[in-house]
Amino acid sequence: MSKASPYIVDITPLKRQPGKQRPFDTTLPPPKGVALETAEVAATGLSFDLQLEVAGDELIAQGSVAIAWRGPCRRCLEDQDGVTSVDLQEIFQKRPVEGETYFLDEDQVDLEPMVREVVLLNLPVAPLCREDCAGPDPDRFPTSVVPDPEPVDETAPPADPRWAALSELTFDDE
Ligand SMILES: [Zn+2]
Repeated sequence: MSKASPYIVDITPLKRQPGKQRPFDTTLPPPKGVALETAEVAATGLSFDLQLEVAGDELIAQGSVAIAWRGPCRRCLEDQDGVTSVDLQEIFQKRPVEGETYFLDEDQVDLEPMVREVVLLNLPVAPLCREDCAGPDPDRFPTSVVPDPEPVDETAPPADPRWAALSELTFDDE
Protein backbone atom coordinates (compact mmCIF):
# COMPACT_ATOMS: atom_id res chain seq x y z
CA MET A 1 0.00 0.00 0.00
CA SER A 2 1.33 3.39 -0.93
CA LYS A 3 1.49 6.34 1.43
CA ALA A 4 -1.95 7.48 2.56
CA SER A 5 -3.42 10.30 0.53
CA PRO A 6 -3.25 13.71 2.24
CA TYR A 7 -6.90 14.08 1.26
CA ILE A 8 -8.04 11.22 3.52
CA VAL A 9 -9.23 12.52 6.90
CA ASP A 10 -9.94 10.42 10.02
CA ILE A 11 -13.43 11.42 11.11
CA THR A 12 -13.71 9.45 14.38
CA PRO A 13 -13.10 12.58 16.51
CA LEU A 14 -15.81 14.39 14.53
CA LYS A 15 -18.27 11.55 15.04
CA ARG A 16 -17.72 11.76 18.80
CA GLN A 17 -18.60 15.46 18.75
CA PRO A 18 -21.39 16.04 16.21
CA GLY A 19 -21.77 19.67 15.29
CA LYS A 20 -18.19 20.53 16.21
CA GLN A 21 -16.16 21.88 13.32
CA ARG A 22 -12.68 20.71 12.55
CA PRO A 23 -10.50 22.77 10.22
CA PHE A 24 -8.93 21.34 7.10
CA ASP A 25 -6.61 24.24 6.39
CA THR A 26 -3.54 23.17 4.54
CA THR A 27 -1.74 23.63 1.26
CA LEU A 28 -1.36 20.55 -0.93
CA PRO A 29 -0.26 19.60 -4.39
CA PRO A 30 -3.26 18.92 -6.62
CA PRO A 31 -4.40 15.32 -7.11
CA LYS A 32 -2.70 13.62 -10.05
CA GLY A 33 -4.12 14.37 -13.46
CA VAL A 34 -5.93 17.55 -12.48
CA ALA A 35 -5.42 19.56 -15.65
CA LEU A 36 -7.43 20.74 -18.60
CA GLU A 37 -5.45 18.98 -21.26
CA THR A 38 -7.18 20.75 -24.13
CA ALA A 39 -6.19 24.16 -22.81
CA GLU A 40 -2.94 23.02 -21.17
CA VAL A 41 -4.01 24.67 -17.93
CA ALA A 42 -2.96 22.82 -14.79
CA ALA A 43 -3.42 23.35 -11.08
CA THR A 44 -0.05 23.85 -9.41
CA GLY A 45 -1.12 24.06 -5.76
CA LEU A 46 -4.24 24.11 -3.61
CA SER A 47 -4.74 26.08 -0.40
CA PHE A 48 -7.68 24.87 1.66
CA ASP A 49 -9.63 26.81 4.25
CA LEU A 50 -12.36 24.30 5.04
CA GLN A 51 -14.38 23.29 8.06
CA LEU A 52 -15.50 19.66 8.40
CA GLU A 53 -18.49 18.79 10.54
CA VAL A 54 -20.52 15.65 11.20
CA ALA A 55 -24.28 16.16 11.22
CA GLY A 56 -26.34 13.01 11.64
CA ASP A 57 -25.10 10.46 9.14
CA GLU A 58 -23.54 13.11 6.95
CA LEU A 59 -20.34 15.06 6.83
CA ILE A 60 -20.38 18.64 5.64
CA ALA A 61 -17.35 20.35 4.16
CA GLN A 62 -17.57 24.09 3.69
CA GLY A 63 -15.19 26.94 3.16
CA SER A 64 -12.94 27.89 0.31
CA VAL A 65 -10.07 26.62 -1.75
CA ALA A 66 -7.55 28.77 -3.60
CA ILE A 67 -6.40 27.10 -6.80
CA ALA A 68 -3.00 28.18 -8.09
CA TRP A 69 -2.75 27.43 -11.79
CA ARG A 70 -0.55 27.91 -14.83
CA GLY A 71 -1.49 28.01 -18.48
CA PRO A 72 -1.01 29.94 -21.71
CA CYS A 73 -2.84 33.19 -22.50
CA ARG A 74 -5.39 32.31 -25.17
CA ARG A 75 -4.29 35.19 -27.39
CA CYS A 76 -0.53 35.67 -27.08
CA LEU A 77 0.23 32.16 -25.76
CA GLU A 78 2.56 33.46 -23.05
CA ASP A 79 2.41 31.32 -19.91
CA GLN A 80 0.30 32.86 -17.17
CA ASP A 81 0.09 32.16 -13.45
CA GLY A 82 -3.05 32.85 -11.51
CA VAL A 83 -5.05 32.02 -8.41
CA THR A 84 -8.76 31.23 -8.53
CA SER A 85 -10.67 31.14 -5.24
CA VAL A 86 -13.75 28.97 -4.94
CA ASP A 87 -16.34 28.85 -2.15
CA LEU A 88 -17.83 25.45 -1.59
CA GLN A 89 -20.27 23.56 0.56
CA GLU A 90 -20.44 19.84 -0.09
CA ILE A 91 -22.09 16.88 1.62
CA PHE A 92 -20.64 13.40 2.09
CA GLN A 93 -22.97 10.45 2.70
CA LYS A 94 -22.76 6.69 3.18
CA ARG A 95 -24.93 6.33 0.10
CA PRO A 96 -24.06 9.33 -2.05
CA VAL A 97 -26.36 10.74 -4.71
CA GLU A 98 -24.47 10.67 -7.97
CA GLY A 99 -23.55 14.16 -9.12
CA GLU A 100 -24.74 15.75 -5.86
CA THR A 101 -23.01 14.26 -2.83
CA TYR A 102 -19.82 12.33 -2.17
CA PHE A 103 -19.02 9.02 -0.49
CA LEU A 104 -18.51 8.95 3.28
CA ASP A 105 -16.69 5.94 4.72
CA GLU A 106 -17.29 4.59 8.22
CA ASP A 107 -14.33 6.24 9.97
CA GLN A 108 -12.76 8.39 7.30
CA VAL A 109 -13.55 10.62 4.40
CA ASP A 110 -11.60 10.97 1.17
CA LEU A 111 -11.84 14.57 0.00
CA GLU A 112 -10.00 13.89 -3.24
CA PRO A 113 -13.04 13.23 -5.51
CA MET A 114 -14.55 16.53 -4.36
CA VAL A 115 -11.25 18.37 -4.81
CA ARG A 116 -10.76 16.92 -8.27
CA GLU A 117 -14.21 18.05 -9.37
CA VAL A 118 -13.98 21.52 -7.82
CA VAL A 119 -10.60 22.17 -9.42
CA LEU A 120 -11.56 20.89 -12.87
CA LEU A 121 -14.75 22.97 -12.84
CA ASN A 122 -12.89 26.13 -11.85
CA LEU A 123 -9.61 26.07 -13.73
CA PRO A 124 -9.75 28.86 -16.30
CA VAL A 125 -10.45 27.25 -19.66
CA ALA A 126 -8.95 30.12 -21.66
CA PRO A 127 -6.85 32.49 -19.54
CA LEU A 128 -6.00 35.99 -20.69
CA CYS A 129 -2.77 37.70 -19.58
CA ARG A 130 -4.77 40.94 -19.47
CA GLU A 131 -8.14 42.10 -20.80
CA ASP A 132 -6.66 44.04 -23.71
CA CYS A 133 -4.05 41.49 -24.75
CA ALA A 134 -3.30 42.33 -28.39
CA GLY A 135 -2.74 38.73 -29.36
CA PRO A 136 0.22 36.93 -30.85
CA ASP A 137 3.41 38.90 -31.26
CA PRO A 138 3.55 39.32 -35.08
CA ASP A 139 7.31 38.79 -35.07
CA ARG A 140 6.97 35.48 -33.31
CA PHE A 141 3.75 34.29 -34.99
CA PRO A 142 3.83 35.98 -38.43
CA THR A 143 0.98 34.04 -40.05
CA SER A 144 -0.88 32.38 -37.20
CA VAL A 145 -3.68 34.80 -36.49
CA VAL A 146 -5.87 33.13 -33.88
CA PRO A 147 -9.27 34.81 -33.72
CA ASP A 148 -11.57 34.43 -30.76
CA PRO A 149 -13.94 31.51 -31.21
CA GLU A 150 -17.08 33.66 -30.93
CA PRO A 151 -18.61 34.85 -34.20
CA VAL A 152 -17.83 38.48 -34.85
CA ASP A 153 -20.52 40.87 -36.06
CA GLU A 154 -18.59 43.33 -38.24
CA THR A 155 -21.34 45.98 -38.31
CA ALA A 156 -22.01 46.13 -34.57
CA PRO A 157 -19.03 45.21 -32.43
CA PRO A 158 -20.17 44.46 -28.87
CA ALA A 159 -19.71 47.46 -26.61
CA ASP A 160 -17.25 47.12 -23.79
CA PRO A 161 -19.46 47.13 -20.66
CA ARG A 162 -16.99 49.46 -18.90
CA TRP A 163 -17.38 52.03 -21.67
CA ALA A 164 -21.14 51.62 -21.54
CA ALA A 165 -21.07 52.45 -17.83
CA LEU A 166 -18.89 55.49 -18.52
CA SER A 167 -21.18 56.87 -21.23
CA GLU A 168 -24.15 56.41 -18.93
CA LEU A 169 -22.39 58.44 -16.24
CA THR A 170 -21.59 61.19 -18.72
CA PHE A 171 -25.19 61.27 -19.90
CA ASP A 172 -26.52 61.56 -16.35
CA ASP A 173 -24.13 64.38 -15.54
CA GLU A 174 -25.17 66.56 -18.47
ZN1 LIG B 1 -1.79 37.58 -23.73
